[in-house]
Parts: sequence; structure tokens; C-alpha cells
Amino acid sequence: MKKPTRDERQRMCVRKRRYRTQGDALDAALILGLARQRTAYLCPLCRLWHLSSN
Ligand SMILES: [Zn+2]
Repeated sequence: MKKPTRDERQRMCVRKRRYRTQGDALDAALILGLARQRTAYLCPLCRLWHLSSN
């Protein structure tokens, strides 16, 4: 995997909400009405979870 550019980091991490666990992220997705896109990923940059839907 190539090193993310600054822009990519902004998109995949900095601008996103962070969750401590996958469960937290999925719960948040449910609350936000994104239940159909309940996909969370462990961010390699901050080591926390983000929702992949956006
Ligand atoms: Zn991140």
C-alpha cells in the first residue's frame, strides 16, 4: 500500500469522526440512519475507527 498523500489523509481520516471501537462506529451509523452502509474500518493513520460511508 502506497503512502497516502496529504489530501488522502484528510479525506480518509482527518475530516472524519473517530470511534474507539468498531462497535461504537456501527452504533453511530445506526443513530445517523446509515444502517444500510454499516461499514467501519480501522484507520491506519490514527488507529481508530471511521465509517466508510460518505
Ligand atoms: Zn483516522
